[in-house]
Amino acid sequence: MIKLSQPQIPESAIEKVGDILRSGQLVHGEECNLFEQELAEFLGVKHALVVSNGTVALHLALLALNIGPGDAVIVPDFTFTATANIVEAVGAKAIIVDVDSTSYNLDPHKLQACIEGWQGPETLKAIMPVLEFGNPTHLNAYKEIARQHGLFMIEDAACALGASEQGTMVGTAAEFGCFSFHPRKTLTTGEGGALVTNDSALHEKAMLLRSHGMQRTDKGVEFKCVGLNYRLTNFQGAIGRAILPELNNWIAKRRALAHQYTAQLAPLVAEGQLTLPTIVEEHSVQTYMTVLAGHFNRSDVIAQLRDKQVESNLGAQSMSALGLFDHAYNTQQRYAEGERLYTHGLALPLHEGMCDEDITRVVNALTEVLGHAG
Ligand SMILES: *Cc1c(COP(=O)(O)O)cnc(C)c1O
Repeated sequence: MIKLSQPQIPESAIEKVGDILRSGQLVHGEECNLFEQELAEFLGVKHALVVSNGTVALHLALLALNIGPGDAVIVPDFTFTATANIVEAVGAKAIIVDVDSTSYNLDPHKLQACIEGWQGPETLKAIMPVLEFGNPTHLNAYKEIARQHGLFMIEDAACALGASEQGTMVGTAAEFGCFSFHPRKTLTTGEGGALVTNDSALHEKAMLLRSHGMQRTDKGVEFKCVGLNYRLTNFQGAIGRAILPELNNWIAKRRALAHQYTAQLAPLVAEGQLTLPTIVEEHSVQTYMTVLAGHFNRSDVIAQLRDKQVESNLGAQSMSALGLFDHAYNTQQRYAEGERLYTHGLALPLHEGMCDEDITRVVNALTEVLGHAG
């Protein structure tokens, strides 16, 4: 079976984890501190905080910005559900804006229209763009729109570590950038995540919130605010540190494989069977998601690919289609792109352990399946 994704854990990390487990220093420790420094350096950002997962990175960002009941935050229609869920979890409303058909990211024109036409009753506080599947497209446009309208911006960069747009590293454009180290992402620590910021006061606030509001001083431990426990373990920190130096090579490999797909799938595109993702420069290609033509039943295609030893899946959800965020604004909109991507998106196998022959096997299998399934 050619797997959709396959986490790579370097042997050096496995040995290091053994050492740490024997040492007894299990919760946030030196490995996490070093991972934070190295991550900040990699991104060219002042502060990085490692946390238990990508969802809680978003949670800490919202809490540090005092976003809660009475507030609204704009999210894209096409994303993983955690993006909208976490806005609702702090008591704010997730306001859904459609994505564009080529980047799968928030459509900047629709984003601007939503902000300019906003009539409440909630106070629009922030935008939470997703750099879907590692695509950095529109990052600088989002930053400019947020700035023009005095809104905070929290990047849900969960699957986009290492991507950049015109010199702006994904995650570093505005108040907060949030990353996930889940096994479906290119750098994984099992569960894990990080939030990064250039704002020292926000960093301080998020750091307190991450660990029970506790601060160690000469007088001992002080409790500064109501906090949570969203720390990463020290052995997970060691795994992250072992992978980070490999990340750019892995991304380059993924990009080369993605270009192979794009070349080999061209005949199917010409026949109108499917459309392909745009692999822009500095895309980190966490997922290669094609979109099947409307007449295909995706479940059938996935099942037939599985029979041919190729694993595939849908890409992400449409927030509006889930029916969990039926606020007045959201129910008055149409989300044609998000829904098309949700019902017809087909993610193909992509990981740095694959070779060109694997790509050819997937393309041959897909060509046969679409030839019969149409
Ligand atoms: C993976 C992902 C998340 C959630 O990250 P976890 O580490 O699984 O909590 C959130 N948003 C997006 C866009 C993701 O891809």
